[in-house]
Amino acid sequence: MPEAPKEPQKATEYDVEEKNKKTLEFVEDVTANADQVQKGVLAEILSRNAHVEYLKRNGLNGHTDRETFKKIIPVITYEDIQPDITRIANGDKSPILCSQPISEFLTSSGTSGGERKLMPTIEEELERRSLLYSLLMPVMSQFVPGLDKGKGMYFLFIKSEAKTPGGLVARPVLTSYYKSSHFKNRPYDPYTNYTSPNETILCLDSYQSMYSQMLCGLCQNKEVLRVGAVFASGFIRAIQFLEKHWALLCKDIRTGTLNPQITDPSVREAVMKILKPDPKLADFIEAECCRGYWQGIITRLWPNTKYVDVIVTGTMSQYIPTLDYYSNGLPLVCTMYASSECYFGVNLNPLCKPSDVSYTLIPTMAYFEFLPVHRNNGGINSISMPKSLNEKEQQELVDLVDVKVGQEYELVVTTYAGLYRYRVGDVLRVAGFKNNAPKFNFICRKNVVLSIDTDKTDEVELQNAVKNAVTHLMPFDAHLTEYTSYADTTTIPGHYVLYWELSINGSTPIPPSVFEDCCLTIEESLNTVYRQNRVCESVGSLEIKIVEAGTFDKLMDFAISLGASINQYKTPRCVKFAPIVELLNSRVISSNCSPKCPKWTPGHKQWNNKN
Ligand code: AMP
Repeated sequence: MPEAPKEPQKATEYDVEEKNKKTLEFVEDVTANADQVQKGVLAEILSRNAHVEYLKRNGLNGHTDRETFKKIIPVITYEDIQPDITRIANGDKSPILCSQPISEFLTSSGTSGGERKLMPTIEEELERRSLLYSLLMPVMSQFVPGLDKGKGMYFLFIKSEAKTPGGLVARPVLTSYYKSSHFKNRPYDPYTNYTSPNETILCLDSYQSMYSQMLCGLCQNKEVLRVGAVFASGFIRAIQFLEKHWALLCKDIRTGTLNPQITDPSVREAVMKILKPDPKLADFIEAECCRGYWQGIITRLWPNTKYVDVIVTGTMSQYIPTLDYYSNGLPLVCTMYASSECYFGVNLNPLCKPSDVSYTLIPTMAYFEFLPVHRNNGGINSISMPKSLNEKEQQELVDLVDVKVGQEYELVVTTYAGLYRYRVGDVLRVAGFKNNAPKFNFICRKNVVLSIDTDKTDEVELQNAVKNAVTHLMPFDAHLTEYTSYADTTTIPGHYVLYWELSINGSTPIPPSVFEDCCLTIEESLNTVYRQNRVCESVGSLEIKIVEAGTFDKLMDFAISLGASINQYKTPRCVKFAPIVELLNSRVISSNCSPKCPKWTPGHKQWNNKN
């Protein structure tokens, strides 16, 4: 199997061009030999894990070939392995899923029963993740030369972690990566030369982390060649932070002192190595921020920026207009596609339009299979929970090299860390091929209707939350006749809006506080990722807009005028189409927001974590 290029250890040994060449050769090699590599990956995973309980339980009997594997091992969802995961979380160290020790759990932003899914991982997966990261800049530098001559201003954050009852750490994959020596002690590389010192990224206090990263980014503004964050929502939050705090930032830059709100000693020390009194720079930033508009603020403050590196595929596409506004239309670059289960692939044509982005899955990362998606009535986000596959459906899965251009598939992975034929929940469409490896457009995550940041809310959750909330209406003899929802990203941070149509029989008017209670009950009923995002302020407070009687009939008339069938018409539980949102907004009688944040604590609720 082709090996990833090895990192040089010292700056002096560093030959960017040579390293880029080797990396691109690696991509050529693994994509040209995609099928062979995949066969090798599966055989390696199965031979290493021949004796693990899960494979024995399913009767694989040490076979390592694709045919037997596909015949014997079922295609599963998280719920199927939850009992095994719970055993591992509770401290069972026997080889249940993987022969190597589970080093920690990665807490996915996907949830099960309202709690984050726990993805087992092993130490060596960090190397695979590092490998995928190491492909990004050599690919990028084919299109934008000179990126090794300056810095990247990336807003990167860690989140709190918890311990399972058995003592394993459970944390998001990026927190795990930034805290690992792969990131912290990375060898010199001009492409991982960031404006944010590690200490500012590794500070758990989100205000101090953001403030210090912004300050360091401003101090080095001329050196910055690219800016970004993981998701578009995070980058926009950083710009909004600047809008709010530029005066204090300028004061610190002018005097070369760090204000006392930054209390973390390691952050202070790291920032003070960069911060020098610079009244000229402070005047310049102040003048730009005082202009009273934020259009083009990226290119105004960081004039050498060549592109904005953020994910704007999937639900993040809702942020494209805001990013265009802030960056004066700089290229928006989506470099990679990854998850807690596994890092999947890279965008080999990073300067393409966001709507054309496709990711080439790197065949060494895991063993990939693809379940064809059949749309019924044009929708795949209908109210259905993942079901287990019947025998015929199991046979429909195809290998990486056998997918067909234009067809949509659900991604299924078998990982080195012990997931076997696991349905990730993402729907991808084949856009074309790089050698023998397919390139995929990201279409959607199955069932998700609402998302602002990393939160993913499905129809069933929304329905249950609404059901809990309407109990507040009972004393007023009022009933919810119809509802829909909308992810409103015109506010920063964005927030969920619910449109409610009521039938009211009682004569007592419903006071606004009752609708506020409804908002909070919905928020309390939503999953842990939503509630965490509310507490971290990456999602704003939920709003209920009451609409006039008859609004949902108008909505149906409108959908039918656009070609929907009367017989099959169902009220959409989430709307995106601008004219429909306008129609709803034009009939709003009153609107109320949650008065406070819902409750959230790190870890699963049954773990009783203290931190
Ligand atoms: P998590 O496991 O919480 O890291 O979330 C992983 C999920 O985020 C993936 O399964 C996708 O649904 C989504 N995701 C990750 N990368 C991208 C991308 N480049 N474009 C669109 N969605 C993405």
